[in-house]
Amino acid sequence: MGLLRKIRTTGRVAEPAPPRPEGEAPPQAREFGGSVQVRCVDAGSCNGCEIEIAAAFNPVYDAERYGARLVASPRHADVALVTGPVTRNMAEPLRRTVAAMAEPRLVVAVGDCAINCGEFAGGYGVEGAVSDVVPVDLAVPGCPPEPEAIVAALRRVTGR
Ligand code: SF4
Repeated sequence: MGLLRKIRTTGRVAEPAPPRPEGEAPPQAREFGGSVQVRCVDAGSCNGCEIEIAAAFNPVYDAERYGARLVASPRHADVALVTGPVTRNMAEPLRRTVAAMAEPRLVVAVGDCAINCGEFAGGYGVEGAVSDVVPVDLAVPGCPPEPEAIVAALRRVTGR
């Protein structure tokens, strides 16, 4: 069998999607129509959460199949995934990044540090948790959160 015919007859092979995650979606999620553009902001993380976010978009966890896609600019983004405690140097850039996103927009705090400063609470360079700097709509706990949890949060937003 030729390679092209084999590809055509096999079709796309992927693991079946797990059941839809429980939990209410934020109200503005309804306006996204099942698809969101996502901008990541590292506000002071140790990079552990970034590794898990990268995994959430790899072919194994494949957040894109649920309608979430990474973009390079907040101007193109519906959702900001924010990691780390917010350092003093990143507080203003984070405010400006979120302000640059069109409405409706949504901010997801990813990881314990983003939620409550985690390991870095009380650090001299820490401004605060993400919710101390910008409004937060969803939180994904964990240090770091597993890729499944990040994908589940994005599925709550896309409704897929
Ligand atoms: S939650 Fe854990 S992995 Fe994520 S930035 Fe904080 S210390 Fe690092």
